[in-house]
Amino acid sequence: MQHPFITYTSRFYKVYLTIYSIFQFIYIPIKFYDKLLSKYSFKKVIYIKNILIIEDEVKIARFLELELHHEGYEVSTCHDGREGLNMALSNTYDLLILDVMLPSLNGMEVLRRIRQVSELPVIMLTAKDDVMDKVMGLDLGAQDYLTKPFAIEELLARIRVLFKLKSGTTSVAASQNSLTCGQLTLYPDKFEVNYNNTPIILTKKEFELLEYLMKNKDIALTRDQILENVWGYNYIGDTNIVDVYIRYLRNKIDQPFQKKLIHTIRGIGYQLKDN
Ligand code: CA
Repeated sequence: MQHPFITYTSRFYKVYLTIYSIFQFIYIPIKFYDKLLSKYSFKKVIYIKNILIIEDEVKIARFLELELHHEGYEVSTCHDGREGLNMALSNTYDLLILDVMLPSLNGMEVLRRIRQVSELPVIMLTAKDDVMDKVMGLDLGAQDYLTKPFAIEELLARIRVLFKLKSGTTSVAASQNSLTCGQLTLYPDKFEVNYNNTPIILTKKEFELLEYLMKNKDIALTRDQILENVWGYNYIGDTNIVDVYIRYLRNKIDQPFQKKLIHTIRGIGYQLKDN
């Protein structure tokens, strides 16, 4: 008769062997299959970007849908503001192309409600050249806007830029940590500015203002936006400070080089652009 301890250990060993062989039986084929797949490159993870279009003009929506499909994106379309908002909130999208004038809920309201809960990138489609729509859209958190009518190539290019920015791929200029507008270059880390390689001497506040304008190149910025971002929310003082500093910058940047980069947008504020 065997000692009880030996019986116990042999039982334990049998159980262990059974579990081990079951594990080998499952694990080895999986491992082999995995190796085979990667060897012959069958296993490719392709992530298709998912875009939602909310646009009530059926023809435009259809055209965008076809073009984006052709570019390899997965596309969903909706022609109504409220319905589109529900879609945006109940599904996972990589981008929303959002028209401003929509039935039941306008684009601005759709964007405002989305921003309460989501960081979904949004490109707004604004009618005519409505500066107020652009400013409002950007204020509400749209990443970009396009004015109708627009060339499809421009929309596709902007989508590519947006996805690149989102995935962390930065432009050459950004990777060298500089901002440019025409011949004007600003190096945030080095606290340097030059115009066509001629150094420009700025005060700290002038530099911060220029940096903010350059970061938002081609965007019409309101005085309030500039004030909040450069002087801070807690700034107590004359709001004319923005106009005063814009004048200082113009004297150092626009005037000496006979090229206007800082533009006044009547009733709004200022915009830095190279044309
Ligand atoms: Ca519309």
